[in-house]
Amino acid sequence: MAIVNAKEMLLKATTEKYAVGAFNCTNLIQMEAVVDASIELNAPLIVQCSVAPSKFLKPQVVGAIYKTLAAEAPIPICLHLDHCNDVEFCKVCADAGYTNIMIDASKQEFSENIRQTKAVVDYCHAAGGISVEGELGTVSGVEDQVRVAESEVELCDPEQALTFVDQTGVDIFAPGIGTAHGVYKTKNPKIDFGRLEKIAALINGQQLRVPLVIHGGTGLKPDVVKNLISLGGSKFNVSTDLKHTLIDTTYDYISENRDQYNPGKIDAAVKEAIKDKIKYWIELLGSSNRA
Ligand SMILES: [Zn+2]
Repeated sequence: MAIVNAKEMLLKATTEKYAVGAFNCTNLIQMEAVVDASIELNAPLIVQCSVAPSKFLKPQVVGAIYKTLAAEAPIPICLHLDHCNDVEFCKVCADAGYTNIMIDASKQEFSENIRQTKAVVDYCHAAGGISVEGELGTVSGVEDQVRVAESEVELCDPEQALTFVDQTGVDIFAPGIGTAHGVYKTKNPKIDFGRLEKIAALINGQQLRVPLVIHGGTGLKPDVVKNLISLGGSKFNVSTDLKHTLIDTTYDYISENRDQYNPGKIDAAVKEAIKDKIKYWIELLGSSNRA
């Protein structure tokens, strides 16, 4: 029961005006921390693995870990493949037990983006129970294979967004609205709230069909996050914040305990720090007690 795809939980979140945290993990300790923190706050959860860690750990291993953690959890948990620009690898991960697949063909021409996204949608829907996220417009910064400079950023065109959603049949949709991966270089990033509002009205105005995703959660101020949720964002991706927590906690622990050779204690310190960070995000997104 706890193993779910992203669609249902995000339809509920959109309707009830909160967002589900989609937290990027690169190892088992992070996955356990993310799951434990979400259980403690009774929050629905999307565990994300991008392409590099999925390949490093192997999709079948990630899928098996996820199934084991989720089966016992009293909350709905989705395993999401983040920013994959390879249709074939999307299929491999779908076969390995990922329950939401993001095909990111946003750097392709519009028609090619539609073609690749639809190919993944067709495959995942035929397999049953797997939802698909597509992206239109770009998010600056670095996310694994996909690198976009700020000057190359093309924001999502609302009319094209509607065409994209209709022609691909995607379950959830990530529009480029000016958020960025990594650490924001400026204190006040230019986020196009009006564009998100227009996209939400065009796609979901008559009837809620396709929940909207906000990439680049790290570094957004709480009032910006709340504004984006009120305009229809129901999946918030958080990656960089967790990478920093993992590296900083490891570095600090080793620096303070240079004579100790006990990996379990490093893992425990990292797990606690990640849990604290996840709880901050869950409270901010309003997803506690929504499982
Ligand atoms: Zn992203």
